[in-house]
Amino acid sequence: MTTHVLAVANQKGGVAKTTTVASLGAALAEQGQKVLLVDLDPQACLTFSLGIDPEDLELSVHHVLTKGLDPTEVIIETDDGVDLLPATIELARAEADLLTRTGREYVIRGAIEDTSGYDWVLLDCPPSLGVLTVAALTAATGVLIPLQCETLSHRGVGQLLDTVHDVRRFTNRDLEVWGVLPTMFDGRTTHSRTVLETISETYDLAVIEPPIPKSIRFAEAPAAGRSILKTSRSNKGAQAYRDVATALRARA
Ligand code: ADP
Ligand code: MG
Repeated sequence: MTTHVLAVANQKGGVAKTTTVASLGAALAEQGQKVLLVDLDPQACLTFSLGIDPEDLELSVHHVLTKGLDPTEVIIETDDGVDLLPATIELARAEADLLTRTGREYVIRGAIEDTSGYDWVLLDCPPSLGVLTVAALTAATGVLIPLQCETLSHRGVGQLLDTVHDVRRFTNRDLEVWGVLPTMFDGRTTHSRTVLETISETYDLAVIEPPIPKSIRFAEAPAAGRSILKTSRSNKGAQAYRDVATALRARA
């Protein structure tokens, strides 16, 4: 079997990386796929939003990346039908610990190789282009770039693509950019469309369809410890993630 490893990356915070990983993961699981989500942000928002309190965890992704613990000893099953390699605040130290290590770019790739049976592994990257994001891109087969179309954040995309090019050159020749995923999309404003078209043309990036509409329901899901696919089953945002999951499977 093939395992598709997607890094959901954008060094800008608040663009819906974590929401995308949780919702897309749940959507792929609904479609019968076996899914592993990896929380790579020391803030542990993904872990929390899947109903797990990071403070209750003795073992987390930090132990896998810096102490060589077998990931299968750390992975948890969640109520959303996906497995999770959780994070805690300890991950903040991993960045510094790894900085002096040989082979640090390969720690996430190695961890994924130590798992088996997953159709999809989704990597929730932190809001920076540091060691963890580079290691995530080194482990990935594809990159998905969530983009909030309201703000003009072109420069951020350029820097991310520069990092992708470096990763291709040095550590992961086969890395492919799958495209930008418009999030918090307000189709009623022509502004959103214009921003999206400009970015996709400027950087020659595919746009993944459909865009994820803006919905207040997304803000409510994390507190319930479930993704929006479970808390608001028929919500338009939930349906959009199901359609994106179908599109990604067709591309894979
Ligand atoms: P990131 O991981 O990129 O920092 P998050 O996934 O944490 O971003 O999302 C940032 C905030 O935006 C959260 O409060 C989340 O609930 C909200 N959000 C995400 N997607 C949507 C959406 N489609 N509509 C409205 N709010 C959203
Ligand atoms: Mg996040």
